[in-house]
Amino acid sequence: MGAGSDRPAYVGRGRYGVNATRLAGRPCRREDGPLRIREIRVFAVELPLLEGRYAWADGRAVERFDSTLVSVATDDGLVGWGEVCPLGPAYLPAHAAGARTGLAEVGPALLGCDPRDLDLVHRRMARALKGHPFVKSALDMACHDLAARAQGVPLATLLGGTDGEAVELYRAISQDTPEAMAAAVARYRDEGYRRFQLKVGGEPDVDIERIRAVRAVLDGGEVLVADANTGWLPHEALRVVRAVRELDLYIEQPCATLEECLIVRRACDHPMVLDEIVDGVGALLAVWRAGAADVVNLKIAKLGGLRPTRLARDLCVELGIAMTIEDSWGGDVTTAAIAHLAHSTPEPFRFSATDFNSYVGRSVAPDPVRRVAGRIRAPTALGLGVEIDEEALGPPILVVR
Ligand code: MG
Repeated sequence: MGAGSDRPAYVGRGRYGVNATRLAGRPCRREDGPLRIREIRVFAVELPLLEGRYAWADGRAVERFDSTLVSVATDDGLVGWGEVCPLGPAYLPAHAAGARTGLAEVGPALLGCDPRDLDLVHRRMARALKGHPFVKSALDMACHDLAARAQGVPLATLLGGTDGEAVELYRAISQDTPEAMAAAVARYRDEGYRRFQLKVGGEPDVDIERIRAVRAVLDGGEVLVADANTGWLPHEALRVVRAVRELDLYIEQPCATLEECLIVRRACDHPMVLDEIVDGVGALLAVWRAGAADVVNLKIAKLGGLRPTRLARDLCVELGIAMTIEDSWGGDVTTAAIAHLAHSTPEPFRFSATDFNSYVGRSVAPDPVRRVAGRIRAPTALGLGVEIDEEALGPPILVVR
Protein backbone atom coordinates (compact mmCIF):
# COMPACT_ATOMS: atom_id res chain seq x y z
CA MET A 1 0.00 0.00 0.00
CA GLY A 2 1.26 3.43 -0.78
CA ALA A 3 1.45 6.42 1.52
CA GLY A 4 -0.25 9.80 1.30
CA SER A 5 -3.64 10.36 -0.26
CA ASP A 6 -3.74 6.83 -1.70
CA ARG A 7 -3.49 5.44 1.78
CA PRO A 8 -6.62 3.43 2.56
CA ALA A 9 -8.80 4.46 5.47
CA TYR A 10 -7.95 1.39 7.53
CA VAL A 11 -4.27 2.30 7.76
CA GLY A 12 -3.23 2.84 11.38
CA ARG A 13 -2.62 6.44 12.34
CA GLY A 14 -2.78 8.71 15.33
CA ARG A 15 -1.28 8.48 18.76
CA TYR A 16 -2.25 4.89 19.42
CA GLY A 17 -2.19 3.66 15.85
CA VAL A 18 -5.97 3.66 16.05
CA ASN A 19 -7.78 3.94 12.76
CA ALA A 20 -11.12 5.53 12.08
CA THR A 21 -12.65 2.35 10.72
CA ARG A 22 -11.85 0.39 13.86
CA LEU A 23 -13.33 3.06 16.07
CA ALA A 24 -16.50 2.84 14.06
CA GLY A 25 -16.68 -0.82 15.10
CA ARG A 26 -16.24 -2.20 11.62
CA PRO A 27 -13.49 -4.49 10.39
CA CYS A 28 -10.05 -2.99 9.95
CA ARG A 29 -9.57 -4.36 6.44
CA ARG A 30 -11.95 -3.73 3.61
CA GLU A 31 -10.15 -5.90 1.10
CA ASP A 32 -9.12 -9.50 0.92
CA GLY A 33 -5.55 -10.24 0.04
CA PRO A 34 -2.32 -10.96 1.83
CA LEU A 35 -1.05 -9.12 4.87
CA ARG A 36 2.70 -9.02 5.18
CA ILE A 37 4.71 -8.30 8.31
CA ARG A 38 6.84 -5.26 7.58
CA GLU A 39 8.27 -4.23 10.93
CA ILE A 40 8.73 -5.58 14.45
CA ARG A 41 9.58 -3.25 17.32
CA VAL A 42 10.67 -4.33 20.78
CA PHE A 43 10.21 -2.19 23.92
CA ALA A 44 11.54 -2.74 27.43
CA VAL A 45 8.95 -1.82 30.04
CA GLU A 46 9.62 -1.79 33.76
CA LEU A 47 6.63 -2.69 35.89
CA PRO A 48 7.03 -1.81 39.60
CA LEU A 49 5.08 -3.93 42.06
CA LEU A 50 2.42 -2.04 43.99
CA GLU A 51 3.13 -4.13 47.10
CA GLY A 52 6.86 -3.44 46.67
CA ARG A 53 7.83 -7.11 46.65
CA TYR A 54 6.51 -10.48 45.55
CA ALA A 55 8.00 -13.54 47.27
CA TRP A 56 7.53 -17.25 46.80
CA ALA A 57 9.24 -20.56 47.53
CA ASP A 58 12.90 -21.00 48.49
CA GLY A 59 13.34 -17.33 49.38
CA ARG A 60 12.92 -16.15 45.78
CA ALA A 61 11.44 -12.70 45.26
CA VAL A 62 11.15 -9.85 42.76
CA GLU A 63 10.61 -6.12 43.35
CA ARG A 64 9.83 -5.11 39.79
CA PHE A 65 9.10 -6.83 36.54
CA ASP A 66 11.23 -6.44 33.44
CA SER A 67 8.64 -6.81 30.72
CA THR A 68 9.08 -6.82 26.96
CA LEU A 69 6.42 -5.50 24.59
CA VAL A 70 6.51 -6.14 20.86
CA SER A 71 4.57 -4.44 18.10
CA VAL A 72 4.18 -6.21 14.78
CA ALA A 73 3.15 -3.98 11.86
CA THR A 74 1.97 -5.08 8.45
CA ASP A 75 2.67 -3.37 5.17
CA ASP A 76 -0.79 -1.81 5.14
CA GLY A 77 -0.54 -0.31 8.59
CA LEU A 78 -2.24 -2.78 10.95
CA VAL A 79 -0.42 -3.12 14.26
CA GLY A 80 -0.64 -5.96 16.77
CA TRP A 81 0.89 -6.13 20.25
CA GLY A 82 2.38 -8.90 22.35
CA GLU A 83 4.13 -9.12 25.70
CA VAL A 84 6.43 -11.48 27.54
CA CYS A 85 7.28 -10.91 31.19
CA PRO A 86 9.16 -13.64 33.05
CA LEU A 87 8.76 -13.79 36.82
CA GLY A 88 12.40 -12.81 37.27
CA PRO A 89 15.20 -15.00 35.90
CA ALA A 90 14.90 -17.82 38.45
CA TYR A 91 11.30 -19.03 38.23
CA LEU A 92 10.90 -20.73 34.86
CA PRO A 93 13.65 -21.21 32.25
CA ALA A 94 13.10 -17.70 30.90
CA HIS A 95 14.57 -14.25 31.53
CA ALA A 96 13.98 -10.76 30.21
CA ALA A 97 17.33 -10.27 28.49
CA GLY A 98 16.89 -13.66 26.86
CA ALA A 99 13.52 -12.60 25.50
CA ARG A 100 15.07 -9.59 23.77
CA THR A 101 18.07 -11.49 22.43
CA GLY A 102 15.74 -14.18 21.16
CA LEU A 103 13.44 -11.66 19.49
CA ALA A 104 16.42 -10.33 17.52
CA GLU A 105 17.04 -13.90 16.41
CA VAL A 106 13.45 -14.82 15.52
CA GLY A 107 12.05 -11.48 14.34
CA PRO A 108 13.65 -11.45 10.86
CA ALA A 109 12.13 -14.86 10.11
CA LEU A 110 8.64 -13.36 10.27
CA LEU A 111 9.22 -10.47 7.87
CA GLY A 112 6.98 -10.92 4.84
CA CYS A 113 4.86 -13.52 6.63
CA ASP A 114 1.06 -13.16 6.83
CA PRO A 115 0.32 -12.89 10.60
CA ARG A 116 -3.00 -14.66 10.07
CA ASP A 117 -1.12 -17.81 9.03
CA LEU A 118 -0.52 -18.69 12.66
CA ASP A 119 0.74 -22.21 11.97
CA LEU A 120 3.21 -20.84 9.44
CA VAL A 121 4.27 -18.17 11.93
CA HIS A 122 5.15 -20.91 14.41
CA ARG A 123 6.93 -23.05 11.80
CA ARG A 124 9.05 -20.07 10.81
CA MET A 125 9.87 -19.29 14.43
CA ALA A 126 10.78 -22.94 15.08
CA ARG A 127 13.15 -22.95 12.12
CA ALA A 128 14.80 -19.73 13.30
CA LEU A 129 15.22 -20.70 16.98
CA LYS A 130 14.98 -24.08 18.64
CA GLY A 131 13.10 -24.09 21.92
CA HIS A 132 12.84 -20.85 23.93
CA PRO A 133 9.03 -20.84 23.85
CA PHE A 134 8.82 -17.67 25.96
CA VAL A 135 10.61 -15.70 23.22
CA LYS A 136 8.07 -16.79 20.61
CA SER A 137 5.10 -16.07 22.88
CA ALA A 138 5.19 -12.29 22.42
CA LEU A 139 5.29 -12.57 18.61
CA ASP A 140 2.54 -15.19 18.64
CA MET A 141 0.41 -12.87 20.78
CA ALA A 142 0.94 -9.91 18.43
CA CYS A 143 0.06 -12.05 15.41
CA HIS A 144 -3.14 -13.19 17.13
CA ASP A 145 -3.99 -9.54 17.81
CA LEU A 146 -3.38 -8.75 14.13
CA ALA A 147 -5.31 -11.75 12.86
CA ALA A 148 -8.38 -10.82 14.92
CA ARG A 149 -8.17 -7.15 13.94
CA ALA A 150 -7.86 -8.07 10.28
CA GLN A 151 -10.91 -10.30 10.58
CA GLY A 152 -12.80 -7.58 12.43
CA VAL A 153 -13.47 -9.57 15.59
CA PRO A 154 -12.34 -9.62 19.22
CA LEU A 155 -9.59 -12.17 19.82
CA ALA A 156 -11.90 -14.31 21.96
CA THR A 157 -13.93 -15.00 18.81
CA LEU A 158 -10.86 -16.46 17.09
CA LEU A 159 -10.20 -18.54 20.21
CA GLY A 160 -13.63 -20.16 20.19
CA GLY A 161 -16.08 -17.49 21.39
CA THR A 162 -16.80 -16.27 24.90
CA ASP A 163 -18.64 -18.57 27.31
CA GLY A 164 -20.48 -17.16 30.31
CA GLU A 165 -20.55 -13.69 31.78
CA ALA A 166 -17.07 -13.32 33.23
CA VAL A 167 -14.00 -15.16 34.48
CA GLU A 168 -13.25 -15.66 38.18
CA LEU A 169 -9.81 -14.39 39.18
CA TYR A 170 -7.42 -15.62 41.81
CA ARG A 171 -5.24 -13.34 43.89
CA ALA A 172 -1.69 -14.50 44.55
CA ILE A 173 -0.61 -13.80 48.13
CA SER A 174 3.10 -13.12 48.43
CA GLN A 175 4.93 -15.26 50.98
CA ASP A 176 5.09 -13.61 54.37
CA THR A 177 4.28 -14.37 58.00
CA PRO A 178 1.01 -16.26 58.58
CA GLU A 179 -0.55 -13.15 60.10
CA ALA A 180 0.49 -10.89 57.23
CA MET A 181 -0.80 -13.36 54.64
CA ALA A 182 -4.15 -13.66 56.42
CA ALA A 183 -4.39 -9.86 56.49
CA ALA A 184 -3.59 -9.66 52.76
CA VAL A 185 -6.30 -12.21 51.98
CA ALA A 186 -8.82 -10.22 54.02
CA ARG A 187 -7.82 -7.04 52.16
CA TYR A 188 -8.09 -8.55 48.67
CA ARG A 189 -11.33 -10.23 49.60
CA ASP A 190 -12.71 -6.76 50.29
CA GLU A 191 -11.69 -5.88 46.72
CA GLY A 192 -13.86 -8.70 45.38
CA TYR A 193 -11.55 -11.69 45.00
CA ARG A 194 -12.91 -15.02 46.17
CA ARG A 195 -10.02 -17.28 45.15
CA PHE A 196 -6.60 -17.07 46.71
CA GLN A 197 -3.27 -18.62 45.83
CA LEU A 198 -1.11 -18.71 48.89
CA LYS A 199 2.65 -18.76 48.32
CA VAL A 200 4.06 -21.52 50.52
CA GLY A 201 6.94 -23.87 49.69
CA GLY A 202 8.96 -22.66 52.65
CA GLU A 203 9.66 -24.24 56.02
CA PRO A 204 6.88 -26.83 56.51
CA ASP A 205 5.90 -25.84 60.06
CA VAL A 206 5.50 -22.20 59.01
CA ASP A 207 3.62 -23.21 55.87
CA ILE A 208 1.16 -25.20 57.99
CA GLU A 209 0.53 -22.06 60.05
CA ARG A 210 0.18 -19.95 56.90
CA ILE A 211 -2.49 -22.29 55.54
CA ARG A 212 -4.38 -22.44 58.83
CA ALA A 213 -4.29 -18.67 59.34
CA VAL A 214 -5.64 -17.94 55.88
CA ARG A 215 -8.29 -20.67 55.81
CA ALA A 216 -9.60 -19.30 59.11
CA VAL A 217 -10.52 -15.95 57.53
CA LEU A 218 -12.26 -17.48 54.49
CA ASP A 219 -15.85 -18.58 54.02
CA GLY A 220 -16.90 -21.94 52.70
CA GLY A 221 -17.46 -20.77 49.13
CA GLU A 222 -14.05 -19.18 48.85
CA VAL A 223 -11.24 -21.13 47.25
CA LEU A 224 -7.80 -21.53 48.79
CA VAL A 225 -4.80 -22.93 46.91
CA ALA A 226 -1.51 -23.55 48.71
CA ASP A 227 1.09 -23.15 45.97
CA ALA A 228 4.53 -24.47 46.89
CA ASN A 229 6.05 -23.57 43.49
CA THR A 230 8.20 -26.77 43.60
CA GLY A 231 9.61 -25.67 46.97
CA TRP A 232 9.05 -28.81 49.03
CA LEU A 233 10.78 -32.16 48.96
CA PRO A 234 8.26 -35.00 49.18
CA HIS A 235 8.80 -35.60 52.90
CA GLU A 236 8.12 -31.91 53.60
CA ALA A 237 5.02 -31.88 51.44
CA LEU A 238 3.73 -35.01 53.17
CA ARG A 239 4.08 -33.35 56.56
CA VAL A 240 2.13 -30.32 55.39
CA VAL A 241 -0.74 -32.14 53.68
CA ARG A 242 -1.17 -34.48 56.65
CA ALA A 243 -1.25 -31.56 59.08
CA VAL A 244 -3.97 -29.69 57.14
CA ARG A 245 -5.93 -32.77 56.06
CA GLU A 246 -9.19 -31.51 57.58
CA LEU A 247 -9.04 -28.13 55.76
CA ASP A 248 -10.71 -27.30 52.45
CA LEU A 249 -7.91 -26.39 50.04
CA TYR A 250 -6.03 -27.32 46.91
CA ILE A 251 -2.33 -28.22 46.89
CA GLU A 252 -0.35 -26.78 43.96
CA GLN A 253 2.95 -27.98 42.52
CA PRO A 254 4.37 -29.30 45.80
CA CYS A 255 7.63 -30.61 44.34
CA ALA A 256 9.91 -30.16 41.34
CA THR A 257 9.16 -33.29 39.29
CA LEU A 258 6.11 -35.32 38.28
CA GLU A 259 7.47 -38.33 40.14
CA GLU A 260 7.89 -36.38 43.38
CA CYS A 261 4.45 -34.80 43.01
CA LEU A 262 2.95 -38.27 42.55
CA ILE A 263 4.36 -39.36 45.92
CA VAL A 264 2.42 -36.47 47.48
CA ARG A 265 -0.66 -37.08 45.33
CA ARG A 266 -0.98 -40.68 46.51
CA ALA A 267 -0.89 -39.63 50.16
CA CYS A 268 -3.01 -36.51 49.82
CA ASP A 269 -6.78 -36.06 50.15
CA HIS A 270 -6.73 -32.57 48.65
CA PRO A 271 -7.31 -31.79 44.98
CA MET A 272 -3.97 -31.25 43.21
CA VAL A 273 -2.96 -28.45 40.85
CA LEU A 274 0.15 -28.79 38.68
CA ASP A 275 1.79 -25.78 37.12
CA GLU A 276 5.54 -25.50 36.52
CA ILE A 277 5.93 -29.00 35.03
CA VAL A 278 3.06 -28.54 32.55
CA ASP A 279 5.20 -26.91 29.85
CA GLY A 280 3.76 -28.53 26.74
CA VAL A 281 1.34 -31.10 25.37
CA GLY A 282 3.71 -33.98 26.12
CA ALA A 283 3.96 -32.95 29.76
CA LEU A 284 0.20 -32.44 29.94
CA LEU A 285 -0.42 -35.95 28.63
CA ALA A 286 2.09 -37.39 31.09
CA VAL A 287 0.22 -35.67 33.94
CA TRP A 288 -3.10 -36.99 32.62
CA ARG A 289 -1.86 -40.55 32.15
CA ALA A 290 -0.51 -40.56 35.70
CA GLY A 291 -3.72 -39.08 37.10
CA ALA A 292 -1.47 -36.53 38.76
CA ALA A 293 -3.65 -33.40 38.71
CA ASP A 294 -7.23 -32.20 38.96
CA VAL A 295 -6.31 -28.74 37.67
CA VAL A 296 -3.42 -27.53 35.53
CA ASN A 297 -2.14 -23.99 35.15
CA LEU A 298 -1.56 -22.95 31.55
CA LYS A 299 0.87 -20.06 31.32
CA ILE A 300 0.92 -18.53 27.85
CA ALA A 301 4.67 -17.80 27.68
CA LYS A 302 5.60 -21.12 29.28
CA LEU A 303 3.84 -22.96 26.45
CA GLY A 304 5.10 -20.63 23.71
CA GLY A 305 2.14 -18.37 22.93
CA LEU A 306 -1.61 -18.44 22.45
CA ARG A 307 -1.56 -21.07 19.72
CA PRO A 308 0.14 -23.83 21.75
CA THR A 309 -1.74 -22.75 24.89
CA ARG A 310 -5.04 -23.01 23.04
CA LEU A 311 -4.03 -26.49 21.88
CA ALA A 312 -3.34 -27.50 25.50
CA ARG A 313 -6.58 -25.86 26.63
CA ASP A 314 -8.68 -27.71 24.10
CA LEU A 315 -6.95 -30.94 25.02
CA CYS A 316 -7.73 -30.31 28.71
CA VAL A 317 -11.40 -29.89 27.80
CA GLU A 318 -11.37 -33.23 25.99
CA LEU A 319 -9.54 -34.92 28.88
CA GLY A 320 -11.73 -33.40 31.60
CA ILE A 321 -9.07 -31.31 33.33
CA ALA A 322 -9.93 -27.88 34.75
CA MET A 323 -7.53 -25.02 34.12
CA THR A 324 -6.13 -21.78 35.40
CA ILE A 325 -5.49 -19.61 32.34
CA GLU A 326 -2.61 -17.23 33.02
CA ASP A 327 0.98 -16.32 32.19
CA SER A 328 4.31 -15.94 33.95
CA TRP A 329 3.52 -12.28 34.61
CA GLY A 330 2.85 -9.15 32.57
CA GLY A 331 0.97 -5.89 32.26
CA ASP A 332 -1.95 -4.68 30.18
CA VAL A 333 -1.22 -6.69 27.03
CA THR A 334 -0.73 -9.99 28.84
CA THR A 335 -3.83 -9.40 30.96
CA ALA A 336 -5.90 -8.79 27.83
CA ALA A 337 -4.57 -11.98 26.23
CA ILE A 338 -5.43 -13.94 29.38
CA ALA A 339 -8.93 -12.44 29.40
CA HIS A 340 -9.59 -13.54 25.81
CA LEU A 341 -8.21 -17.04 26.26
CA ALA A 342 -9.90 -17.58 29.62
CA HIS A 343 -13.28 -16.16 28.59
CA SER A 344 -13.29 -18.38 25.50
CA THR A 345 -12.58 -21.47 27.60
CA PRO A 346 -15.75 -23.47 28.40
CA GLU A 347 -16.96 -22.19 31.77
CA PRO A 348 -17.02 -25.53 33.62
CA PHE A 349 -13.30 -25.92 32.89
CA ARG A 350 -12.31 -22.46 34.13
CA PHE A 351 -10.80 -22.88 37.57
CA SER A 352 -9.46 -19.33 37.56
CA ALA A 353 -7.43 -16.70 35.74
CA THR A 354 -5.48 -13.67 36.83
CA ASP A 355 -5.33 -9.91 36.26
CA PHE A 356 -1.58 -9.35 36.41
CA ASN A 357 -1.86 -5.67 35.50
CA SER A 358 -3.56 -5.00 38.84
CA TYR A 359 -0.37 -5.95 40.71
CA VAL A 360 1.82 -3.35 39.03
CA GLY A 361 2.00 0.44 39.16
CA ARG A 362 2.37 1.16 35.49
CA SER A 363 -0.16 1.01 32.68
CA VAL A 364 0.71 1.21 28.99
CA ALA A 365 -2.85 1.53 27.70
CA PRO A 366 -5.38 4.30 28.38
CA ASP A 367 -8.23 1.82 28.78
CA PRO A 368 -6.81 -1.50 30.00
CA VAL A 369 -8.71 -4.60 31.09
CA ARG A 370 -9.82 -4.13 34.70
CA ARG A 371 -11.61 -6.53 36.99
CA VAL A 372 -15.09 -5.98 38.37
CA ALA A 373 -15.99 -7.80 41.60
CA GLY A 374 -13.07 -10.21 41.30
CA ARG A 375 -13.82 -11.12 37.69
CA ILE A 376 -12.70 -10.04 34.21
CA ARG A 377 -14.28 -10.16 30.80
CA ALA A 378 -12.67 -10.37 27.38
CA PRO A 379 -12.71 -6.92 25.76
CA THR A 380 -15.26 -6.57 22.96
CA ALA A 381 -13.12 -4.27 20.80
CA LEU A 382 -11.14 -5.77 17.94
CA GLY A 383 -8.12 -7.97 18.50
CA LEU A 384 -6.77 -7.90 22.03
CA GLY A 385 -8.91 -4.81 22.60
CA VAL A 386 -6.19 -2.67 24.13
CA GLU A 387 -4.68 0.35 22.41
CA ILE A 388 -1.12 1.04 23.49
CA ASP A 389 0.07 4.53 24.46
CA GLU A 390 3.30 4.42 22.48
CA GLU A 391 4.49 7.76 23.83
CA ALA A 392 4.53 6.24 27.30
CA LEU A 393 6.81 3.42 26.14
CA GLY A 394 9.78 5.47 25.01
CA PRO A 395 11.87 4.48 21.99
CA PRO A 396 12.13 0.83 20.97
CA ILE A 397 15.27 -1.06 21.94
CA LEU A 398 15.13 -3.10 18.76
CA VAL A 399 13.55 -2.59 15.34
CA VAL A 400 13.42 -5.36 12.76
CA ARG A 401 12.33 -4.30 9.32
MG1 MG B 1 1.65 -21.85 40.50
